[in-house]
Parts: sequence; C-alpha cells; structure tokens
Amino acid sequence: MKQHIVKPGSKIKLSEWDPNNTGNFKGGKEEGLVEIAKLNAKLSELQEVLYAEHKHKVLVVLQAMDTGGKDGAIRRVFSGINPQGVRIANFKAPTAEELDHDYLWRVHKMTPGKGEITVFNRSHYEDVLVVRVHNIIPLKIVEKRYNQINAFKKHLADNGTTILKFYLHIDKDEQKERLQARLDDPSKHWKFRLGDLQERKLWPEYMQAFEDVLSKTSTEHAPWTIVPANRKWYRDLVICTMLVKTLEDLKMSYPTSDEDLNGVVVE
Ligand code: AMP
Ligand code: MG
Repeated sequence: MKQHIVKPGSKIKLSEWDPNNTGNFKGGKEEGLVEIAKLNAKLSELQEVLYAEHKHKVLVVLQAMDTGGKDGAIRRVFSGINPQGVRIANFKAPTAEELDHDYLWRVHKMTPGKGEITVFNRSHYEDVLVVRVHNIIPLKIVEKRYNQINAFKKHLADNGTTILKFYLHIDKDEQKERLQARLDDPSKHWKFRLGDLQERKLWPEYMQAFEDVLSKTSTEHAPWTIVPANRKWYRDLVICTMLVKTLEDLKMSYPTSDEDLNGVVVE
C-alpha cells in the first residue's frame, strides 16, 4: 500500500496517478471483497481494544470530488464495527456562526478523544479547496492556510492523535458515469444537485487545488494517501488495509483491572 502514500515534500501531478490502479493486489473484485470482509472483522476487534485501552485517538480524513465515494467508503470500511465505536463528522458549507470563527474552530471540537475513531467526511481541507476554487479567499491566504493546517495536524499528533488522510481519486469520466447513474435512478435524486454540474465544469481548477493540498500538506505525522477509487472494491481495500495496519502498529492491549479480582466469585 506504500505506493499510494504521498511522500512529504513530493510534487503531485494527479494525471500521473491512475484511478484504476489496483496496486500489487493480484486478485480481482471477488477476492478483494473477501479480503475486505476479513479486514472488517479485524477492524472490529481492534476498535474494541482501542476503546478499552482508552489511550489512543484516531482521526481518519476523507476528501474527494463529488461522487468520489466518501459515503460508500464509510459504509463499507466500517461495516461490522460496533456503532458506538466510530463517530462520523460531516462538514457541509459553514453556518453563519461557523463563519464568524476561524475555519478550524468547528473542526477542532470534532476531533477524536481517547479511545475514539472519528471519520471526517470532508474537513478543513474544504477551506483550501472549494473556497479556493470559488475565489472566496485570495491565493495568498490559501498559502498561509497550508502552514496553519500543517501546524494544526502537528499539534493533534503531538497530543496523541494518529491521523490518516485519504484522497479518493476518480477521473472525470467516472464522475460522469456516477452522476448519470444518480440521475437515472429516482431513489438517488436526493443526492443529485444541479449545482454538481456547475462544480464539474471546474474539474481542472479542483485538480489543481487538490494537487497543491496533496503536495503541501502531506507531512511525516499526517501523510496523504491517494486512493485509486474508480474501482470501489479497491478503494475500500486500501482504506481497510491502511487502517488495520495503523491500529496494529499502536500495539494496543486490553487494560487489566485496577481491582484485585483474585478469588472473586460471582454468586
Ligand atoms: P455533500 O458532501 O454532497 O453533502 O456536500 C457538502 C457541500 O458543502 C459541498 O458542496 C462542499 O463543498 C461544501 N462545503 C464543505 N465545507 C465547506 C467550506 N468550508 N466552505 C464552503 N463549502 C463547504
Ligand atoms: Mg453532494
């Protein structure tokens, strides 16, 4: 999976990253799904130790273009996990109150506490993506924000948060298919906004904005992973694998009781 991680300091050109790539995985979709099911089970166990140990904090950040698969990935990656064990934070266009504060205000309070996994479905990166593409703030401020975001991530990491950041990479043709599928299916119309078509016209601007985010905010303590996401099963496999590996590396264990349970009998 290492090949999908953005090395800090590298300059990313997304046209060189194949959204159909399936890495070193030799099997196809069927085997991929079997592997995901195994990882789901592992994730469920790891989450329980994480909660019990009450020591580590885990933050998963998901960013993507519209239809990139953030919702689908959340559904698949965390299926099987205790619903109490993971919190999803969705970041939509900011409210008036949120706009009255700095852009990290609403984000910081949603970060995970000890024993928690929190998933950001969109995040403060919107404040250097959509906000930049629509010229809501000047480029000079965007540049400053990269540094502020890196400092914020370092602050979280230094205070015990493990951070995983995933950019779900689809291409423009795949987005077309997915938007069309939403349009063709009345049960998906709630997900479709005419505005999505306006955003689609800004594809090159978004790619530029994502390239800068990936190049400038992949750091040692919070690297980006570019997830090839045209194939949904491979997308989910990458996220599951990285998450399981990261949690295993925390070397967690169930805490022992602080009471003496020797010889205790339940009558
Ligand atoms: P969805 O994820 O499809 O429900 O859409 C959420 C919308 O909120 C997207 O169009 C985002 O671009 C937008 N959004 C999220 N964060 C921000 C932000 N900080 N500033 C402006 N728009 C945002
Ligand atoms: Mg949408």
